[in-house]
Amino acid sequence: MLIVYSPLSLEYDTPGHPECPDRVKQIHDALKSAGYRFVSPEPAKKEDILLVHSEEHYETVKHADYAGIETPPIDIKYPLMSAGATIKASEVLGFALTRPPGHHASREMLEGFCYFNNIAIAVRRLGKRTAILDIDVHHGNGTQAIFLGADDVIYVSLHQVPLYPMTGLKSEQNCHNFPLLPDTDEKTYLKTLEKALEVIGSYKPEMLAVSMGFDTYAKDPLAGQHLTENGYEKIGRMVSGLNVPTFVTLEGGYNVNDIGKLCSSFLEGF
Ligand SMILES: [Zn+2]
Repeated sequence: MLIVYSPLSLEYDTPGHPECPDRVKQIHDALKSAGYRFVSPEPAKKEDILLVHSEEHYETVKHADYAGIETPPIDIKYPLMSAGATIKASEVLGFALTRPPGHHASREMLEGFCYFNNIAIAVRRLGKRTAILDIDVHHGNGTQAIFLGADDVIYVSLHQVPLYPMTGLKSEQNCHNFPLLPDTDEKTYLKTLEKALEVIGSYKPEMLAVSMGFDTYAKDPLAGQHLTENGYEKIGRMVSGLNVPTFVTLEGGYNVNDIGKLCSSFLEGF
């Protein structure tokens, strides 16, 4: 898989924030030494953002007209490049190694470390029959809100409940939710993923878009799942076993010591 990466994603930092540049740097270094090829993205254009978000939301992000511990004010060039990296990944069937993440951002709202919904923008721009698989440990409430009721996209998510944002307790229309209790073991996780992939397989999508989080890791500081390095390779193999053109974007994952090898292991599975 090609890696889409911009060094801009290392440039902004809020001391003490778990969504830190070192996450991306550790993955970058691990993939570089594993010999992956890297390509550069272009920033997303305003018209791309407006495929998903309102004009008001765009202006709010542009003028950093918001405050919050979760989403500290940052220059719009960072979320624009992150959306652009995911767009590029959708074009080259690559992995967008990027931040800020996107799956909690909805049409009008930024929240949960997310400013623009990167994967939603890339999916809307492609305009194909798409299945979104969200395997970050948190429910992608923003992505679900954007696509709920859409007739050309399904949203399929595995996530821990109870946990932020406390949504995704049941499936609704085209949004298929697989909530998992805290302390779910790896075997149960992979079995549940198998069921989720069956839903995707029977939908027969032209494209698979993956919101990838490494916060399902056993040693992640923000959640309570029990995936191992080896488990991520299995996930990679299971997802690529669908034989659907696939692109991936990075969402969460906060164990900076191990995130590089976890991501290597996941991509190895492809
Ligand atoms: Zn997450």
